[in-house]
Amino acid sequence: MRSISIFGATGSVGASTLDLVRRNRREWRVSVLTANCNVADLAALAREFQAELAVVADESCLAELRGALAGSGIATAGGADALVEAAARGADVTVAAIVGCAGLAPVMAAIEQGGIIALANKEALVSAGEVMTAAVARHGATLLPVDSEHNAIFQCLQGNRIEDVRRITLTASGGPLRTWSAARLEAATPAQAVAHPNWDMGAKISVDSATMMNKGLEFIEAHHLFPVGLDRIRIVVHPQSVIHSLVEYRDGSTLAQLGPPDMRVPIASCLAWPARMETPMAPLDLPALGELTFFAPDEDRFPATRLAREAAAAGGAAPAVLNAANEVAVAAFLAGKIAFTRIAVTVERTLTRAMPAAPTTLEEVLAVDREARARADELLELA
Ligand code: NAD
Ligand code: MG
Repeated sequence: MRSISIFGATGSVGASTLDLVRRNRREWRVSVLTANCNVADLAALAREFQAELAVVADESCLAELRGALAGSGIATAGGADALVEAAARGADVTVAAIVGCAGLAPVMAAIEQGGIIALANKEALVSAGEVMTAAVARHGATLLPVDSEHNAIFQCLQGNRIEDVRRITLTASGGPLRTWSAARLEAATPAQAVAHPNWDMGAKISVDSATMMNKGLEFIEAHHLFPVGLDRIRIVVHPQSVIHSLVEYRDGSTLAQLGPPDMRVPIASCLAWPARMETPMAPLDLPALGELTFFAPDEDRFPATRLAREAAAAGGAAPAVLNAANEVAVAAFLAGKIAFTRIAVTVERTLTRAMPAAPTTLEEVLAVDREARARADELLELA
């Protein structure tokens, strides 16, 4: 039996992870499950999986959680510090599935315990960059990418040397608004932006997928996970989401990983690593798929990948600022306060303000994040 802790257990990635645990119940001991404030779902999951500890990040929800788990023998806690303490308990596998930079401090605490970190929370790696990868090396942790593209690249690199890589290609579905004109994008609603054609995901990443900022964040994520140089990572739009990414080697061989657009496939690859496990997915039916198509990204209509590339090249605090501004702008868009196209504009404008010094510690990354959020908020109120 191995222990598993899931940070962000009530979300889309959390649910996919727990579905796999449920199917292999005897192999796992569930240690920690967390949510922001979704007490009903968290309490039900904690009871079902007999978790040792359930944590709500929002401390104002703790009393309700205590009530919901009374008599269950499951420990409860609440607040940002409790989240970090829960991560510091360590587990054989910690699944980082909180959305946004809010997940960074617990991921760093889990890394310090040196186990396997299955990372879905890309915003944490984008913001912390070298601070996180240095901690992984220092503590002997194993960082396995859950993000389907990075998981594909990780699989395509097995048995090969990173110095032999000529190029990494990240595929992008292009999102639900891929074919929309610039004028139409201006008026895209939250409902239209989250209606992803292939993947069923949380609201924030769905909007990121529609703006292509998801691919921008993934570009930076790939740069930290697979250090081949920024100029060797490219993005290709592939609307069917069957090829999850590709690695081209210097001898001209290109390896790709294919699979259904279901997060249980990359999550299973992390849970069973370096072995494989059964999943309930139907095998790929290539004749039924018929054809796979590929396009170059259009950065005029979707400038987010350009902004991310520029932030990655600038390095230092820029990726954390990009991420923070994007989180603020996406939340404003989802709340109906700004137009879809204002998301990228807000990110770009936040990036053009005076850039803070490169953060070298977790605390400094969190300070950059806070400052950039304040700047983005200010820009949104001014305009
Ligand atoms: P989601 O919105 O469905 O779930 C987010 C989880 O985080 C929930 O459990 C929620 O309670 C918790 N949470 C939200 N705000 C929090 C906060 N401030 N503090 C602590 N916990 C908080 O999101 P998701 O789609 O599951 O995505 C989770 C992460 O995985 C994101 O970083 C996303 O980019 C990444 N990811 C998701 C998918 C996918 O298919 N959903 C694919 C690849 C990567
Ligand atoms: Mg992805």
